[in-house]
Amino acid sequence: MTINVDVVVLGAGFGGTLTAMVASRRGCSVLLIEKGYHPRICIGESTTPLTNLLLEEIAHDYDLPFLLDFTQWGRWKRKHPSLRVGLKRGFSFFNHQKLAEADSKMAWNRELIVAASPNDNVADTHWWRSDWDSYLVKQSMKLGVGYMDNTVISNLAEHQDGIELELIRAGIKSQVKARILIDASGGKTGMAEKLSLSQEKLRHTPETLGVYGHFEHVKPWMDTQVEKRQRKLPYPPENAAVHHIVEGGWIWCLRFDHGTVSAGASLVTSKHEDIQHESPEIIWQHLLRKHPRLAHMFAQAKTIYPLRKIPRIGYRMERMHGDRWIMLPSVAGFVDPLLSTGFPLTLHGIKRLGRLISPYQLAKNGPIHALSNLAKITFDELALSDEMIGTLFATMNDFRHFATASLLYFSNVSFSETSRRLGKAYLSPGFLCSGLPGQSLHLKNTLATIRDLHAGNLPRDAKWGAIQQVVKDAVDPINIVGLDPLSSSPWFYANPEPLLKNAHKVRASQEEIQGMLARCGLSNGATDASAPMP
Ligand SMILES: Cc1cc2nc3c(=O)[nH]c(=O)nc-3n(C[C@H](O)[C@H](O)[C@H](O)COP(=O)(O)OP(=O)(O)OC[C@H]3O[C@@H](n4cnc5c(N)ncnc54)[C@H](O)[C@@H]3O)c2cc1C
Repeated sequence: MTINVDVVVLGAGFGGTLTAMVASRRGCSVLLIEKGYHPRICIGESTTPLTNLLLEEIAHDYDLPFLLDFTQWGRWKRKHPSLRVGLKRGFSFFNHQKLAEADSKMAWNRELIVAASPNDNVADTHWWRSDWDSYLVKQSMKLGVGYMDNTVISNLAEHQDGIELELIRAGIKSQVKARILIDASGGKTGMAEKLSLSQEKLRHTPETLGVYGHFEHVKPWMDTQVEKRQRKLPYPPENAAVHHIVEGGWIWCLRFDHGTVSAGASLVTSKHEDIQHESPEIIWQHLLRKHPRLAHMFAQAKTIYPLRKIPRIGYRMERMHGDRWIMLPSVAGFVDPLLSTGFPLTLHGIKRLGRLISPYQLAKNGPIHALSNLAKITFDELALSDEMIGTLFATMNDFRHFATASLLYFSNVSFSETSRRLGKAYLSPGFLCSGLPGQSLHLKNTLATIRDLHAGNLPRDAKWGAIQQVVKDAVDPINIVGLDPLSSSPWFYANPEPLLKNAHKVRASQEEIQGMLARCGLSNGATDASAPMP
C-alpha cells in the first residue's frame, strides 16, 4: 500500500513536530516520521526572548494558539504544571580563570550577568525536552498529523513531482509518496546520511567536543561564592543559563524547577587533545578536578543516565536542499550552544518554510524555486552566528574581552525582539541583522576588529579599552536596552527606562513603547530588580 501525502517530516523533535503542525495548518496532509520514540532524552533546552517571540509569531501566523501557553515561564507553570520546565531570567557568565580575584573593581574580569526579563512571571524557560517534545507530538496528532515512531527509511528516491520513501516499522514495510520532504532529524542522520552529504568545518568557531548529562543533587553555585557584592543582582544568577568559562571552553548548568540540573561542556578539541578520546565520565571528572568550585557543586551529584559525548558539536552541511527536500536550519548546521542560538534559527526557518507550503503551491511546484533562496538565508544566518560565537571563543582567554564582545549579541537580539514586537520586522528580518547587507557587513567588520585587537600587541588595559570603544560604537545605533560596554559594572538589569529613552532607535514613539510593554506585561513597576543579595 502506498500512502500519499503532501509533506513528510523526518524527525519528531520540537522542530519537526512544529513544522508538521504548521504544514497541517496550511492545509497540507502531513506524515511525521520518528526513528525513535517519545519520551526520550534530549538536550537543547534554553530559550531566549527571541525564541519565545518567534514561537508567539508562529502561534499567530499559523493559528496554533496553544503555543502561547509556553512562551513565558509564569503562564507555563499556571497552565501546564505537569510539564517540567526551568526558570530562565537571563544569561549568567562566570570566569573560572579569575574567580580567585575577589576585588569587586575587577568584576568585568570575573562575571557577566545580563537580565532578559524583569520578573519571573514573564521570564524565559528551559524546556524539559522529554515532556515538551512528547506533548507537541500529541498536539500534532490532534491536528491531524499522521505519526509513525520506531520507523526507519530503508529506501528513498527523488522524482520530478515528489519524493518516494520505503519505510520499515516493526519489520513491516510501507511506501510513502510526498510532494516535499522536510528533514528535521536534528543533525546528521537524515538526508545527510541517505545522500552521503559531507559536513564542512565552521569558519570561525573552533572544533569543539561536548559531554553532557542530567544531574540530581547539584549544590547551588552561589554556595561557592566568596565575593562581596555591593548592589542587588539583576536576578538570582542561577535562575538563568549559567555559563562557566574555563580554559579552552565552557560548561553550562541549567537548573529545572524539579531540581534536576542539565549540565555539560563544550571544549575546544585542539586544547584537550590529551582527553578528547576518553569516555564522557573521564572528561567530566577531569573538568571537576581542574575547577574546585564546580567540584564542590557536583560533589554529591548523580546522573540520571550515563553521561553522553558529542565528538564534534559544530558543523555546516555541504548543502541543505534538493528539488523536493529541504533541511531545517538545525540540520543544516550548528555552531555551539554558547548563546542559545539553535532555537531562534530553527524557528525562523520554520516560519519561512510555512509560507512556502500549501497544497496549491506544492501542486504548482511553487516552493521548488524558493528552496534555494531559503537555503541561502539559512546559511547566511549560520555564518553570522559562527562569526559571532567564533569571536567569543577567540576572546575567551581574556574574560573582559569576551564579556564586552558578547554585548554585540545581546544588543542585536534585543533590538530584533523590540522591533518585531512593535510590528517593524523589516528593521530586523533575520537573525543577528542577517538580511540587512549593510548592517551584517558592519557586524562582521566589528567582530574582525575585536579579534585583531585581542590578538594584537597593545598593553592589556589599552587593549580592553579599545575593544570597549569599538563595541560601544557598533552597538550605539541598536542599543535600546542600555547595554553599555563602558559601564563600571557587568550587571545589566531588565527595566523599561532605556527602552523609552531609546525609542527613536526603533523608529517608535514613547507611547508605542509603552503600549508594547503593557502588552507584554513589562510595564513600569513589573520589574523585580530586587533579587536577593547572596
Ligand atoms: C550540546 C547542545 C546544546 C544545545 N543547547 C541549546 C540551547 O540551550 N538552546 C538552543 O536554542 N539550542 C540549543 N541547541 C541546539 C538545539 O538542540 C537544536 O536547535 C534543537 O534541538 C533542534 O531541535 P530539533 O527538534 O530540530 O532536533 P532534535 O531535538 O535533535 O530532534 C530530532 C529528532 O529526529 C529523530 N531522527 C533523527 N534521524 C532520523 C531519521 N533518519 N528518521 C526519522 N527520525 C530521525 C531523532 O530521533 C529526534 O527525535 C543545542 C545543541 C547542542 C548540540
